Amino acid sequence: MGTKYSLESKFDLAIVGGGVIGLSIAAQCAKNGWRVCLIDRGAIGKESSWAGAGILPTGASGPVEDPIEQLRQLSDQVHEEWARWLYDLTQIDTEYRRCGGLYIARSPAERATMRANCMWWDELGIEYERWSLDQVSSRCRMLASGGLASGMLAPGGLADPSGPSATRAEYYWVQRDAQVRNPRHLIALKAACQALGVSLVEQAQDLSLQADGTSIQSISLKSYETGNLLKIVADRVCLATGAWTGPLLKTLGIETGIYPVRGQMQLYRFDRPPFECVVNEGHRYMVPRQDGRLLVGSCEEEVGFQKGTTQEMMDQLASWASSLCPMIQHVPLETQWSGLRPGSIDGFPYLGTLHPYTNGYVAAGHFRHGLHWSSATAVLMDQHMRGHKPLIDLEPFRLHRGNVP
Ligand SMILES: Cc1cc2nc3c(=O)[nH]c(=O)nc-3n(C[C@H](O)[C@H](O)[C@H](O)COP(=O)(O)OP(=O)(O)OC[C@H]3O[C@@H](n4cnc5c(N)ncnc54)[C@H](O)[C@@H]3O)c2cc1C
Repeated sequence: MGTKYSLESKFDLAIVGGGVIGLSIAAQCAKNGWRVCLIDRGAIGKESSWAGAGILPTGASGPVEDPIEQLRQLSDQVHEEWARWLYDLTQIDTEYRRCGGLYIARSPAERATMRANCMWWDELGIEYERWSLDQVSSRCRMLASGGLASGMLAPGGLADPSGPSATRAEYYWVQRDAQVRNPRHLIALKAACQALGVSLVEQAQDLSLQADGTSIQSISLKSYETGNLLKIVADRVCLATGAWTGPLLKTLGIETGIYPVRGQMQLYRFDRPPFECVVNEGHRYMVPRQDGRLLVGSCEEEVGFQKGTTQEMMDQLASWASSLCPMIQHVPLETQWSGLRPGSIDGFPYLGTLHPYTNGYVAAGHFRHGLHWSSATAVLMDQHMRGHKPLIDLEPFRLHRGNVP
């Protein structure tokens, strides 16, 4: 006797992975009329997508050829529309806003990187301004001018503010940079999915994919709530399992270049926002939320699937943040956490068909940009899975490219 499964009704699309990518695809496909099932082995929207900062740097103003910039540009447009759409549908305010981004370069290496950035922004037609220290200080009063002017020597260590590097710190302002409060965005997406009739399966246990040589026939799992074994059958199956996509694809005999990259984060509690914009320096940033909470992040650590924070990184983040905003030392550190970004070997996400499975699809590997690129990913995957020509050519994002067999 084989194992007894109860068969769930048949779907147009089953998505495995309920982070921002899976949720966005589910919402978009359900909006366009498909019967969708979204399955997660944990709680929906609680992994990397929850852990992130929600920074959405603006995209190019005109036509662009670079595939990543095309993705950024489309995401930028779709996020703006979705913030309104999600609010109308769910009454949840995701705090999406074009808050602006301040970019600070204190060390010689940061200045060199910023100059390259500026050349790229010029090419893309992204508007920015070079600011003086006075402009920064008057716009962001809580940033200390001493800290702003001094060059960083080592993580947390500041150069002499009167030394030679002091006068050379540079500041750039991008008015159209945006942010979204990602935990709220996820709650809104989940509510939208529910309103659109998406079947949500959380805490799925022992999930496995059944496939023959050319198609994925079903997804079997054990329900956490009832203990029942379920078999989910769908015309199409899309994997959106973030950093964990590699192990799942291995069960189908497919290798990817996706690997986990840990990022750590701190959350401080001010009475009101210490400044309005996102403050960036290299890979570090501060993101003010409207209720006075301030996120400080982050780092890139290749430690496998190991989550958790380290005292060393917490000290580095606190030291960096207080060098720019000394008030941080006087407000409570509310909490700290880490998340596993889905890194990809060449920096491009994997979007498209899961060859050799003609009804299998993948949307994963968005690394530091998944919250941003999720909206474009949803639009493009919906078009691709329907057999329509996507707005952006997905060829550069195909699974089997260059360094992936
Ligand atoms: C500290 C930090 C800061 C960040 N800041 C930003 C930012 O400012 N802007 C930005 O755009 N991006 C940011 N990111 C990156 C962004 O969060 C990720 O790129 C994005 O969340 C990836 O979304 P995802 O849906 O692919 O993955 P996840 O959110 O990790 O979701 C994957 C889901 O799949 C489920 N799953 C995994 N394996 C299985 C399985 N076998 N069966 C069933 N379910 C499974 C998991 O439980 C999880 O819910 C940040 C990330 C971190 C960690």
